[in-house]
Amino acid sequence: MEKWPIGVFASIDAGLGVKLDVAHELGIPTIQLHAPQKKTRTPDSAQAFLDRLRQLGITITAVFGGFEGESYADIPTVQKTVGLVPPETRAERTQEMKEIADFARLLGVDVVALHVGFVPHDRSDPLYGEVVAVTREICDHCQGNNQRLHLETGQETADTLLQFIADVDRDNLFINFDPANMILYGSGDPIEALKKVGHLVRSVHCKDGKWSQRPGEEWGAEVPLGEGDVDIERFLRTLDELGYTGPLTIEREIPQEPERQKAEIGRGVELLNQLKAKIG
Ligand code: MG
Repeated sequence: MEKWPIGVFASIDAGLGVKLDVAHELGIPTIQLHAPQKKTRTPDSAQAFLDRLRQLGITITAVFGGFEGESYADIPTVQKTVGLVPPETRAERTQEMKEIADFARLLGVDVVALHVGFVPHDRSDPLYGEVVAVTREICDHCQGNNQRLHLETGQETADTLLQFIADVDRDNLFINFDPANMILYGSGDPIEALKKVGHLVRSVHCKDGKWSQRPGEEWGAEVPLGEGDVDIERFLRTLDELGYTGPLTIEREIPQEPERQKAEIGRGVELLNQLKAKIG
């Protein structure tokens, strides 16, 4: 694959991310796929989807897990509802994540990713050990499929994330780095964080955001690529210094406004192409 193929976060039926046709119209060659609903995760639908992707000339670079009942409404709601941290949904979500990994294998995709949720910063918190254990379990399942697991960044500082990954202690555990999330959640300067965790970064989201007045308590604002506080040129230059050559996957989560979403992603593609030409 060429260096830095452009990508977009896309979905079949789950509602997050753009539709495939939009990716095709914008000339985008790769997608990260938001895992479809259970009824769609069948061998037949995997084959039909692969046939369609082949026609459109699109490659899937990762399948992203997501779960019923997750809400990103505000930071406390994320803590309560997202990923494998909430105890009451953990067992069923762990099982579902394994099924999603198996569906990714049907699609021939060797990267599975997820928001693990808010990992407690205190390693002596019993919840911390529980999340380590369940992440290990999913890594081991993915290993059986010859897959890697990529953790989405944002909820944790770079240091907490590094500690967590070291504690999970699995060779197929890596990072999907989202610079905007560091700002939106108030977890630290994205470029400094990227430098710290860069050796583990195997995929990225190209997303932009503005710091909130009260970082970590209130959401920052997600904005179109290039209009926020990330500094996308510096982001790409840092990826280049780290030797990262993988996809640049644009994420713009305003599915309730599809026309605006498409236009903004189109401008994001232009920006990334300009920067690719400049930085190479
Ligand atoms: Mg992201």
